[in-house]
Amino acid sequence: MTEESSHLEKTLRRIDGRGYKTYKEIEGVYDFPGFRLFVDHVQGDPFAAPSRIRARVMRPVSGFGPETTASPSRQTALCDYLTRSFHHSCTRIARGERGTGKSGLITIDRPPQEILARTAMAVDDRLVEARFFMGLPAVGRKISGRHARAMFFEELPKIVQASLYARSLSMPAVMEHIETAEDAHTLRRIIADRGLVGFVGDGSLLPRASGIDPGPLKERLAVRFESPASLKTKVRLPNRGIVSGMGIPQGVTLIVGGGFHGKSTLLNALELGVYNHLPGDGREMTVSLEAAVKIRAADGRSVAGVDISPFIDNLPFKKDTNAFFTANASGSTSQAANISEAIETGAKVLLLDEDTSATNFMIRDRRMQMLVEKANEPITPFVDRVRQLYDDLGISTVLVMGGSGDYFQAADTVIRMNNYRPEDVTERAHDIAAENDTGRIAEGGEPFGALKKRIPLKQGFDPFSQHRRTKIAAPRRKEILFGRTRIDLGDLEQIVDSAQTRGLAHGMHRAVRHMDGQRTLREVVDCVLKDVAAGGLECLTPYLTGDIAAFRAFELAGAINRMRTLHVRQAP
Ligand code: ADP
Ligand code: MG
Repeated sequence: MTEESSHLEKTLRRIDGRGYKTYKEIEGVYDFPGFRLFVDHVQGDPFAAPSRIRARVMRPVSGFGPETTASPSRQTALCDYLTRSFHHSCTRIARGERGTGKSGLITIDRPPQEILARTAMAVDDRLVEARFFMGLPAVGRKISGRHARAMFFEELPKIVQASLYARSLSMPAVMEHIETAEDAHTLRRIIADRGLVGFVGDGSLLPRASGIDPGPLKERLAVRFESPASLKTKVRLPNRGIVSGMGIPQGVTLIVGGGFHGKSTLLNALELGVYNHLPGDGREMTVSLEAAVKIRAADGRSVAGVDISPFIDNLPFKKDTNAFFTANASGSTSQAANISEAIETGAKVLLLDEDTSATNFMIRDRRMQMLVEKANEPITPFVDRVRQLYDDLGISTVLVMGGSGDYFQAADTVIRMNNYRPEDVTERAHDIAAENDTGRIAEGGEPFGALKKRIPLKQGFDPFSQHRRTKIAAPRRKEILFGRTRIDLGDLEQIVDSAQTRGLAHGMHRAVRHMDGQRTLREVVDCVLKDVAAGGLECLTPYLTGDIAAFRAFELAGAINRMRTLHVRQAP
């Protein structure tokens, strides 16, 4: 049942000065001029998580034509734009600071440089709906009706007017946002068809403003990307038309070059190329296949029953590496586990950087082979497996390696970064390899083989807090709290937003439902992604909340794999 907004105003007058809990009375639906307001959940006290509110505008009234939502990628981009504009309006219009705790807050999830599906905004044929948060105002712990009235009747209508109607926005900017995302989405499909794993558009601006600011580096400090002629590819995109850039072929690609010449920056752009970027980011036309996974060492992580035997066997004390368990992985075992887990989840491209790899996992040169013979070295280095990964399993690798030429033989493509400019040095690298034998003896002659699959078991997943309440949260962008278990996601570098982390936390909870003692981890994760595809991200949470963003299978499996209480059984 809906009430006129005047009813809300009366209630706020009536409960002014009462105890905070009385705010519960305003939960309900109210008709405002031009939009409908849903007060879904009122916070328990001024310091608690803010109240969950929605504002809904009917689609015909909003003025967004059918072209703005003509495909899923367009729809996601429109929602993203509206979320940004709503957020901007909140910071501009909401006064904030209206008493104790979160009093005065009006806010919505703030998207990063990436355009992700999220629950903060919904648009369909019928409606446009913002899902946001308000800190209902209090003086001490008493309701401040006067401030609440100002928030609901002065600030909120202005915020809604400024951000949810086409007439208030710059429609060319909205369309640019939509078309940019659609082009990136199409580009990702085109490169898959052409047998490429990544594409870096000419003119891309890859470096970031700083280590803590993911926005683009200032134009005057940056060298824009220009593909070497031999790798240049042209594509025709639906909106931008013909775009040229560097196509990274399937197989093994090395990125070499001197220190500080832009190698890691290129790889980082490819890592995040699984997402679409907003106009002005600089990486709009830099994409990689959706199944591209960053791999790094993460010593100290736990590993539950992962088959790392292609990389590591004969461990001291005969520890089994077909089903490797540890509460404290080393650099090399963690990196091996990360690769096996990525393969298990369906990775098609592995992205590795020497900066974040374990040296003994990556290389083992002639002299070391002489001093420590293979019988005493459990590790078969990646250099001896990278070719097999592609030849046997069809998994490509893009590897930053400035420190060792032992990879030249294994590489199909070698790109040298020189003062931030890429050069194709494949032939030269192959010549050098032919003329200068490293003397290395190839290790790991046996085929890569199929990795053993794992079946996750429910028993390790306890979502209850010490008060026996379900507690599923993401206290930080790289941390999940699942019941009493903390999960460190610090090494999952393709998580870009804490809303994704919340999605992952709830996705884990959802995953437990699909664990029947038969389904493999991959199947369980795929079930969750199917649920999301069918029911939207909204299906993950018990109540509607605007702070969940989309995530991939790899990060969901990654979170489950990093849970220290994970129990698995090996599939027969
Ligand atoms: P490498 O991995 O080769 O050692 P990085 O990729 O870490 O080098 O880059 C070194 C520095 O150069 C970083 O501060 C980075 O932001 C900056 N940088 C990278 N690419 C460019 C570019 N195209 N233009 C300007 N600066 C860049
Ligand atoms: Mg580097």
